[in-house]
Amino acid sequence: MLRLFIVAGLLIVMYLLVRSAIRQWGRPPGELSDPRQMVQDPMCRVFIPRGTAVPARIGGQTYYFCSSDCATKFERQLSG
Ligand SMILES: [Zn+2]
Repeated sequence: MLRLFIVAGLLIVMYLLVRSAIRQWGRPPGELSDPRQMVQDPMCRVFIPRGTAVPARIGGQTYYFCSSDCATKFERQLSG
């Protein structure tokens, strides 16, 4: 009976270790939770940290720009 508890305890410890390792390895793709992550301005091709970028939702997709000026230009370019 004691052995069963030890085995169960080991399984729980292993499960927790694997779970924390998976968390460290990778976030789900597409998740932009880090404001220091670099994003590219599709208008002038400049890279800026997401925290300081200007987000704009154009055509159902969110783009990040270095300035609202670029966002306006890009939107105008897309709409023709
Ligand atoms: Zn720009």
